[in-house]
This record gives sequence, structure tokens and C-alpha cells, in this order.
Amino acid sequence: MTRNLTQVLLKLKCRRYQSVWTSKLKIVGKLLFEEYGLPRLGNFRDPLREIFYILLSAKTTDAQYRKTFKNLSNRFSTLEDLSRASISEIKDCIVSGGLATKRATQIKRTAKKIISIGKKPAKILRSMDPEIAFSTIAALPGMGPKSALCVLMYSFKLDAFPVDVNVQRIAERMGIISPNLKHYQAQRKLALVVPEGMSTVLHVGMVVHGRKVCLPRNPKCNHCKIRTMCRFGKEHEAKEHSSVRRR
Ligand code: SF4
Repeated sequence: MTRNLTQVLLKLKCRRYQSVWTSKLKIVGKLLFEEYGLPRLGNFRDPLREIFYILLSAKTTDAQYRKTFKNLSNRFSTLEDLSRASISEIKDCIVSGGLATKRATQIKRTAKKIISIGKKPAKILRSMDPEIAFSTIAALPGMGPKSALCVLMYSFKLDAFPVDVNVQRIAERMGIISPNLKHYQAQRKLALVVPEGMSTVLHVGMVVHGRKVCLPRNPKCNHCKIRTMCRFGKEHEAKEHSSVRRR
């Protein structure tokens, strides 16, 4: 990843769009906060726990990865234990979440890499320049830019905006980004328009909204608090009105 793109994703030294969406997203963030508050979604302030939690969360359900994370934490209390464990021991803890061999290998390699950062890796990561912390975390096995942004946002409290499937779907429907953008394109575009200081409230609010209301199929637009900001929602409303008039 180029330095320029990293700076955009971390909102460092980049010129922001003065987009109409920046003002609208301030309202969206406020409305979502009123509706859902700021749930932690199980994420951790400790960056190391957060890294393993994220590793277990890809392509699996909320309930499954919470369970596999708990199994893993109960079985291995230190990074050293995890780095010395066999792949099959790690697999036993996480098998119910799927992709167990792949994940067990990533977990073991990640534990070793984190140990190599130094004696107190969490403290060292926190003290790093954000760009270096981002690159270090993104380069860990099984991680990547989105996962690194999650760690920076949830654990380091930085104003970084990770884009997951819920966020991307809602942003598309609202009309902020074009449909079918590649993930990194959506990530870049949204990082530029999200208002300063609102990354967490918008990310968490959109994740919860995507799970409860703006579902992948049949979004519940009639119950949506941000409908007036949404292109899809307004089109849906206009269709409903015209069908009522025809009756
Ligand atoms: S109006 Fe509909 S499509 Fe738009 S954000 Fe709300 S639920 Fe999603």
C-alpha cells in the first residue's frame, strides 16, 4: 500500500473532500447514535486481543467467533503458549468457527510475529507512529488494511474508518459511493468524506443498522431513521406513493 493511501485511510495530512456527504454524514451519525448508542460489538481496548478477535471473525457469524475467541483465550493465556502450541491444539479451540486449519496457522504465526515486536508488544504498538502501527498490524498473517483500521479505531481510539460489508452496502444504497466498487476504492472514498471525529459512531452505527434494518435483502426502509438521507430509501418511498395513488 502506498504511503499516500495509508495517510488517506488514517486521515493524516490529506486534503479532505468538502463533500455534501460530509455534512449529511454528520446528521446520519447523530441519528444512528440516537437509535443504537455506541455498542462495543465485543471489540477490545487491548490491541492484541482485538487482533485475534478479528482474525477469528472473518466469514463467520457473531455467535461463532465470540465462542471460538473465548475457547482460545481460556486454553492459551499467553502469546508464548500460543506460539508454542501445535496447529491441532489451536484447531481444537476454533473448529466450530470454520476454516480451522487456515486460521490456526495464521494465529500461531501471528503470535510469533507479535512476540518479535518486543517485550511489551501492546505498549510498543500503541507508542508507534499511526502509519507504522497500521502497516505493522496490516502485515500480520490473516490481517489486512480493514482489520488494521479496526484495531486503530477500537483499541487506539484513532479517527480511522473501517469499511465492512454493512458499511459498504449502506453507503452504496445511500448514494455516497457507486455500486460494485472494489473494497479498497470504497474504503478510500469513504475515508475522505467521513466527518472528522465521527469514524467510530458512524462505523458502529452502520454495522448495527446493516444487521438490523438495512439488511442485504429486503431492507426495512419503512423503519429506517436515515431514510431521508438515502437515495434507495427515497426511491422506495416514491414507488410506494405512486402505487397508492394508482389504487
Ligand atoms: S432507507 Fe432503506 S436502503 Fe436506505 S439506509 Fe435505510 S434501510 Fe437502507
